[in-house]
Amino acid sequence: MNISDAERIASVLESIKYKPALKMSEADLIVVTMCSVRQSAVDRIHGLIEKFRKLKTTNHKLQTILTGCIIKKDRIKFEKGFDYLVDIKDIKKIPEILNPSLRAKRNLGNYLDITPKYSSKFSANVPIMTGCNNFCSYCVVPYARDREVSRPAKEVIAEVKNLVRNGYKEIWLLGQNVNSYKDGKNNFSNLLKMVNKIPGEFWIRFTSSHPKDFNDEVINTMAIGGKITPYLNLPAQSGDNKVLKSMNRHYTIKDYKNKIEKLREKIPGIAISTDIIVGFPGETKKQFENTAKLFRDVKYDMAYINKYSPRIGTAAAKLNDNVLWEEKKRREKVLTEILKQTALGKNKKLIGKDVDVLINENRGNNYFGKDKHYKTIKVKSDKNILGKIVKVKITEAQPFTLKGEIM
Ligand code: SAH
Ligand code: SF4
Repeated sequence: MNISDAERIASVLESIKYKPALKMSEADLIVVTMCSVRQSAVDRIHGLIEKFRKLKTTNHKLQTILTGCIIKKDRIKFEKGFDYLVDIKDIKKIPEILNPSLRAKRNLGNYLDITPKYSSKFSANVPIMTGCNNFCSYCVVPYARDREVSRPAKEVIAEVKNLVRNGYKEIWLLGQNVNSYKDGKNNFSNLLKMVNKIPGEFWIRFTSSHPKDFNDEVINTMAIGGKITPYLNLPAQSGDNKVLKSMNRHYTIKDYKNKIEKLREKIPGIAISTDIIVGFPGETKKQFENTAKLFRDVKYDMAYINKYSPRIGTAAAKLNDNVLWEEKKRREKVLTEILKQTALGKNKKLIGKDVDVLINENRGNNYFGKDKHYKTIKVKSDKNILGKIVKVKITEAQPFTLKGEIM
């Protein structure tokens, strides 16, 4: 979502003839797209403010803007450190903020209407909605990005068609809860089907899916396959029903596992990842063991494990953050060890198989990419294959990376 925000900001700035600077020290304008989800990201802003203060002593022209997901309290705290503070919904106003004579001369539309300046030439983030209505008790997003707004399917389709025409190979449909997408006519399943019908060679991925809204209809649509890739991130957040209740997640582990079972039945071989929070207020060792059990039972391909940090203004911030940081680290380690085993087990089965890989990064002649199952695959190539889909034979498996040879 932050990348998508930054791509829209870059587009707004380009419309008033700003060009990207090669180094921070050469910039006339620095826009910081903040993320409030974790405290560590918020803490980094203090360092940036200090850096900008120093830069300003030699570059008197430098202006700074803070935008992105900002909650009220941080807004007050950071206001003095930046020249301007702009709500993410208002980024189209940046030109007139920088130059008041531009006021009312331009019409860039709403946040979702802004055509982004894509940061990649082959993989694009396409927001289908913004905001969130769920108020999970630990989460700051509903406060920082406001309520859910879905983008009309027509606009999403037009953007994807244009991207595919320009050679894009991977389309990420983005939203905090894509399964509650609704534009008045279409739900998420309809939207997926429509994107799937767009002609061209490209892959469809989407995130995030809230388990309470992820339903049979979407599973059946995913099972059609086509351009829809066999990968799903389904954030469980905890493996314990009492903790889930306290997190305000509205599903039980039984519901969650049923959905995983249906997915695996309809889409054999689907890769599944999850998001987890360890050390939620009051999470006992026994409750944590239920999360470890979930990991052993589901056998995830990948997991994004987060140590709980209180976010001011959220319901959970009023609870006692009583799990010590060291214990949170221990719980994170326990889950990582289980994950390493399950992921390695799955990856080993891929040795000898041929897969399509979209190459997205290189260091010298070492290239890295993702297959349809969102597995990271490393290959060597003397030719520049960045942005290409290549056929690879898998030769070696590690928990989080596979090695292969281009065929
Ligand atoms: N909309 C997504 C999550 C977006 S936030 C969903 O419903 O799953 C991305 C991840 O950050 C979450 O999945 C959660 O695991 C983590 N996270 C959010 N708030 C957190 C907090 N206060 N402490 C630790 N991790 C947090
Ligand atoms: Fe946060 Fe929950 Fe909304 Fe995800 S669904 S953004 S975790 S409130």
